[in-house]
Amino acid sequence: MRITFFGSSHGVPEPNRKCSCAMVEAGGRKYLIDAGTDPVDELVKRGIGISEIRAVFITHLHGDHTDGLVHFLDLLSWYYKEASPAFYVPKTELKDAVKPWLSIQGVELREDLEFSGIREGLFYDDGVLRVTAFRTGHIDVSYAFMLEAEGRKVLFTGDMKHVTGPVDDYARYAETADFDLAVAECAHFDAMLYEAPLRKNPPKLFCFNHYSPRYEESCLHLRESVKDVVPVLMANDGLVIDL
Ligand SMILES: [Zn+2]
Repeated sequence: MRITFFGSSHGVPEPNRKCSCAMVEAGGRKYLIDAGTDPVDELVKRGIGISEIRAVFITHLHGDHTDGLVHFLDLLSWYYKEASPAFYVPKTELKDAVKPWLSIQGVELREDLEFSGIREGLFYDDGVLRVTAFRTGHIDVSYAFMLEAEGRKVLFTGDMKHVTGPVDDYARYAETADFDLAVAECAHFDAMLYEAPLRKNPPKLFCFNHYSPRYEESCLHLRESVKDVVPVLMANDGLVIDL
């Protein structure tokens, strides 16, 4: 399994980080997690056909995870008509919200694009990739995802509960599986809160994503303090992790 970070920033862009978007590759198939930045730019830059994207999974509907969808859906509707990724979203009203925005630009959202609501538990299995959703305490409907493919298990935390996410949300997911990789946010709390759950259930690799400059120093502190149990990466855009 390969993870490529197209956007690894928190709520706003940083000099070398755009908002949340990652590509997951497994079994020759490609998927996206979140679209806070425009995935088309990143796919074109890498010579990847838009139609290679099988599915898009959205953790929650904040703009730094969804604003790139508008451009993606725009181009899918009038240009990349051969591409038909399946969209999995926390609220299917997203489709009705995008329609008038595209319409005022003179574009009709393609009716054949499928939007499915995410429910807690296993919600996607195409025979290569299985995706399980866990609710997070971030907003009324927000999810973390467990990805399983090629014998690997990866956790994407999405955004978690403000102030206490690592102990309230992350600690709960960490007990569900032995993760090969945990991709964890750090925009809403001090990173040192991850120390206890990492010591209890360390993944093989832990990667900060969606981290705020406000907490960057605490991320580096955590990296140092848990180096005896798990290596810690800090994602920048373009980072590729092969598992
Ligand atoms: Zn959020």
